[in-house]
Amino acid sequence: MKVWVDSDRCRGHGVCVALCPDVFELNDDGYAEARNPVVPSEYIDAVVDAVDACPEHAIVTE
Ligand code: SF4
Repeated sequence: MKVWVDSDRCRGHGVCVALCPDVFELNDDGYAEARNPVVPSEYIDAVVDAVDACPEHAIVTE
């Protein structure tokens, strides 16, 4: 799985970071970014939870 955050949609709520801090972080502007676009298999379930929980539908996976 690959993941990234659509910077046009992200509003910096941080839900993704709370659910999966090993994959997501807030940048200096307060918006989320994926630490690495390739998701380690052990974090896939948490990333799916973050996708479902993001209020802006800003998390994209492939
Ligand atoms: S939960 Fe969604 S809107 Fe909030 S910081 Fe994460 S990607 Fe951005």
